[in-house]
Amino acid sequence: MLKLALVGLGASGLFCLEELAGQNVEVHVFDVGPTYNKRYPCPIDQGKLEVCPPKACSYCAPGQSAGSWNDFKVILSASPVIGGRLYDLVGEKVLQEHLDKLKRLILEHAPVNIPVVKPNQDDLDWIKQRATFAGMTYHYQELLHCGSDNAPAINTSILNQIVEKGPNIIFHWDTKVVSVARRQEKFAVISDSYRKPGAEQEELFDFCIMSVGRGGANWLTQQEFYKSLDISPGQVDIGVRVETSCYFTEEVDKRFYEPKLYYLTRRSNDVVRNFCSNPKGFVTPENHREYVLVNGHSKMYEKSENNNFAVLVSKTFTRPFKNPQQYSQHIAKVTNMLAGGGPLIQRLGDLRSGRRTKTLVNNLIKPSLEAECGDISLAYPHRILEGIVEYLDALDKICPGVAGESTLLYAPEVKSYPDSIVVSKNMETNIPNLYIIGDSSSWTRGVGQAATSGMLAGQGVGFKLKDLGPLEKKSLQPVNTKQESASNAIPVEVTINNAS
Ligand SMILES: Cc1cc2nc3c(=O)[nH]c(=O)nc-3n(C[C@H](O)[C@H](O)[C@H](O)COP(=O)(O)OP(=O)(O)OC[C@H]3O[C@@H](n4cnc5c(N)ncnc54)[C@H](O)[C@@H]3O)c2cc1C
Repeated sequence: MLKLALVGLGASGLFCLEELAGQNVEVHVFDVGPTYNKRYPCPIDQGKLEVCPPKACSYCAPGQSAGSWNDFKVILSASPVIGGRLYDLVGEKVLQEHLDKLKRLILEHAPVNIPVVKPNQDDLDWIKQRATFAGMTYHYQELLHCGSDNAPAINTSILNQIVEKGPNIIFHWDTKVVSVARRQEKFAVISDSYRKPGAEQEELFDFCIMSVGRGGANWLTQQEFYKSLDISPGQVDIGVRVETSCYFTEEVDKRFYEPKLYYLTRRSNDVVRNFCSNPKGFVTPENHREYVLVNGHSKMYEKSENNNFAVLVSKTFTRPFKNPQQYSQHIAKVTNMLAGGGPLIQRLGDLRSGRRTKTLVNNLIKPSLEAECGDISLAYPHRILEGIVEYLDALDKICPGVAGESTLLYAPEVKSYPDSIVVSKNMETNIPNLYIIGDSSSWTRGVGQAATSGMLAGQGVGFKLKDLGPLEKKSLQPVNTKQESASNAIPVEVTINNAS
């Protein structure tokens, strides 16, 4: 039987596995994390810890698949700008069909009834009118908000069903894939125990599916095959997490949960957007070992009086600069340095006046995350901050109060995306039988499209297996070089500034 290595079992890997379960191929799943039933939501969010441990705990470190465990908001609309770029790759119809399938699967496995959040016509008219007056563009979306509290049960139940359906699957939990290299027409995968390294093993596979997420994107670039891939540089989003009163945003929240509002800055024409709204939610640290970012989440039952959301300015770079990830990480590290190692917090009024925030004792908005008061303008480029302030001023026309003096800004909130890898409609790279899915391919930016890319790859392998006929009798295609292209790989133009 042919053998397939699936490296990473986060959002994309899980739904790829769903397609591969029961197929005529021996699937080996590698993940640095423990089995799903031993993974847990953030201990700070659960009230078990007050501050982030000095080293990243297993929540933010590899092995936790953060978005599928934290908040677990799934965008269900096939949009050209929200959640990734699969719309450009496979078109609206195919993307929507896969998102619909994902919705059915999640709802089937949810322990409670989870409503689909979708705007009605009145609300759509309401937001379109207000957004136009504010100089913003509204993008339609439907979503499922599963919540951090329901995420473990949903993921574990889906995995259990896959295990039942797939006797062809072998799991290697707590196992780090150290390297993947081409060996003739096959892939040599070297793996080792994640926690107790020193017992490396090598195995050969006919297919390899890489689903290592954003956390594994840098590792991907160090693999033997990487230089043979067709790629173009990725994008970064630099911004802040805004925390304000839920009363200022309640009109929008009750109609939409999270309306996607895009804005073009006056001077630089930069795209600024909101991301990850958490009405009545909490700001939370996101520990990446070398730097600490901020993020936000909300729960189904426990509520705060605040709303938090990210405001992000998108940037792409042209030659000769080609390391946007390092650029955003540098900004994050300088911000942490000023804050003594963690996130900085500043009142919007202080930022406008060019002074640091010294205390929040009498501030109208009480922070839901303890962070060091300071001055974000000492770490962030002026152009980025100008975009953020302009965005909030525009949003204030829709949600009066959000651009007030007491609104809190937490930094750093940065998102860097891996290089964009040219793939076929089934996520196969120009190297035959090598698939790159999820956020590490840069085609996706959220659970919905990551899961879709996984399904597409699983189906792609399925098509190949059918085409091959009696598997053992046929050999697969020979190893490719950069000049050769996968049979159905299509070069797709990189769309700038359309992040989710
Ligand atoms: C804090 C946080 C909150 C988020 N909230 C949301 C949200 O609410 N909604 C949403 O749509 N998106 C959210 N996202 C984004 C979302 O998590 C990602 O878009 C999605 O998980 C991408 O799926 P993926 O399969 O590409 O990667 P991941 O889900 O990150 O999975 C990658 C997997 O690969 C494993 N891995 C990595 N390297 C190796 C290796 N060398 N060997 C073995 N295993 C390896 C990791 O352990 C992990 O399990 C959030 C992200 C973060 C960080």
